[in-house]
Formats: sequence, structure tokens, C-alpha cells
Amino acid sequence: MKRVLQRPPVGVARTAVLIAAARAQEQRHLHRLFDDPLAAGLVRAAGSASDLGGVRDLAGDHFVLRTRYFDDELLAAARPQVVVMAAGLDTRAFRLPWPPGTTLFELDLPELVEFKEDALRELGATPRCDRATVPVDLRDDWPTALIHAGFDPNRPAAWLVEGLFMFLPPDAGGRLLHWVSALSAPGSTLALEHVNRAFRDLPQMRPVHQRFDALDARWQSDVEDPVAWLDAYGWDATVTHQVDLAARHDRAVPAITDPRKVGDARIWLASAVRTA
Ligand code: SAM
Repeated sequence: MKRVLQRPPVGVARTAVLIAAARAQEQRHLHRLFDDPLAAGLVRAAGSASDLGGVRDLAGDHFVLRTRYFDDELLAAARPQVVVMAAGLDTRAFRLPWPPGTTLFELDLPELVEFKEDALRELGATPRCDRATVPVDLRDDWPTALIHAGFDPNRPAAWLVEGLFMFLPPDAGGRLLHWVSALSAPGSTLALEHVNRAFRDLPQMRPVHQRFDALDARWQSDVEDPVAWLDAYGWDATVTHQVDLAARHDRAVPAITDPRKVGDARIWLASAVRTA
């Protein structure tokens, strides 16, 4: 008898299907920026992401470019521990060539993690590193759960916070960054995405906000100066502009990040090294 899969993600967890759908679509590109053979199967298991198609049309090329940016940052960091916060349907544990001895931790809401584990099992996926899942609400006591899962705060880690901060209230985002910093041994790295207020306020983003609000996945925060923000927590950060990233990969600048179309509105892509 065929096993019944966990309930497909709902609410904010459903936004993970949107990103996986963009990565699945990229697999059809002749010169794709990354391989993600599991993405399409995960989207299928979730019952497609067609309800979020409008958001993907607007930002799909940004999701693709950011995926490649963070892939490169995590591999270049080459730290023994990798922590993917709000991992969603991220399959980096399965698709990137990790150095031997790497342990990758994935944190997300329990219902998302359950669904993903079931779907990955059905797809016969095998990780390319040691992989641990940590089902947890990142507004709660996730550091204890992460340490219980085997994370060692005395060893350097490469942290990734992709597609999360905007969904958290500012105090929860600040708390998360505080704990990431407190758990980071010297030499740790942190890569993250956030947006500024002008980006949240773009007229093009109105339908996205309406869609996300309907999912109960409202955007709640932004940051004007990510370098100063990260510096206050003991990180030395560099921001990469999508114009440079697109040129690096011979792609068009995603319209939603093109200064000629969105002015000062920014989706920040930042990478940082622990200084304190
Ligand atoms: N990082 C993944 C990616 O880029 O593919 C997923 C990004 S998706 C836009 C947002 C993710 O944040 C979802 O998987 C959702 O479940 C997770 N998330 C949102 N709020 C959360 C919370 N309070 N605790 C844990 N996960 C949360």
C-alpha cells in the first residue's frame, strides 16, 4: 500500500514551495546556474506552487541568482558545520560537493520538516554530507534544539539565512542574529538575505504582499544598512549587488533588483566573517 505523505506545507511554509519551483524551472535552462534534480519532485509532492505563480514570475530569476550566490559562499567557506536556517525545500545537503567531514543542519518549522523528510524518502534522496534536521520555530529556543542535534559552538560554522528575515518581526530577527553570533566560534561565516524598506514599498510588490498576507506570511521587517547591522553583532560583512552577480554569471539583472527599474529598492545579499 502506498504511504500517505505528510500534509503539504501551508502558511509561511508554503513560500518554500515557491522557491523550489523557481529552482526546478532553472533545471530547464541550457546553461543552468546549479543542478537541483530534487526540486521538481518536491514541488510535485507539495501539489505544485501555481497559486504563487505570480510571485515566481516577478522574482523567479532573483531566486535563481541568489541560490547560486549562496551555493558559492557556503562552498567557499568550507566550514565543518553548515547551518541552514529556515531551510524550506533547500536541497544543498544533497546536491553540493561538500568537503569530507561536513555536517549540515537544516532548521525549519516542524510541519515543513516532516513533509520534506517524507518527500525526500519517496524520492530516494541521499545526502552528500552528514545531515541533521532540526524541527523548530525560529522565534523559540532553537539554539538548544540545534545543540541537541549535534551542533558544536566551539567549532567554526557557515550559517545561511536565506528568505527568512523579512518574515520575522524586527525583535525576533534581532534575537536570531544575537544567537547566531553567540554560537559562532572564531572563523565562522554568515550569509544572509534581507530587504530595505523601499523594496517592501515597491508598487510591483503589492500583489506579492497580498498573496503572502493571505498565506499568513506577512513581511514584517527590513534593514537599511546590513553592513552596520551585522557589525553591531560582531560580523564583518560585504554586500554583493545583483548587477555584479548577474554579470558574473552572464545573466540579465533580475528586473526586481535592477536599479534602473527599482531605484534604491534593495534585496540585500550579504556575506560576513565573525570578527568578535
Ligand atoms: N531558505 C529556503 C529557500 O530559500 O529555499 C526557504 C525560504 S522560504 C521563502 C521561507 C522559509 O522560512 C519557509 O520554509 C518557512 O517555513 C520558514 N520559516 C518562516 N518562519 C519561520 C519560523 N518562525 N521558524 C522556522 N521557520 C520559519
